[in-house]
Amino acid sequence: MTEIEYALYRKKRTLLEVCQEFGIDVDDADISNIETCSSCSIWYKSVELIPDLDGNPICKVCNRFYGL
Ligand SMILES: [Zn+2]
Repeated sequence: MTEIEYALYRKKRTLLEVCQEFGIDVDDADISNIETCSSCSIWYKSVELIPDLDGNPICKVCNRFYGL
């Protein structure tokens, strides 16, 4: 994982916020390993997200909460 990914991982922060902190352009940020949960907007590794009934990636916490 990249520094940017570590800064976002398991947090509810925006990519823009973290990029500003690191002083880099959003377009240059390498976040290929992480994605946001489409329900709670927290960043997780792509492999940790599960598609919900509509095919949107959601985290295990949300998955359990909605009982899918
Ligand atoms: Zn979630």
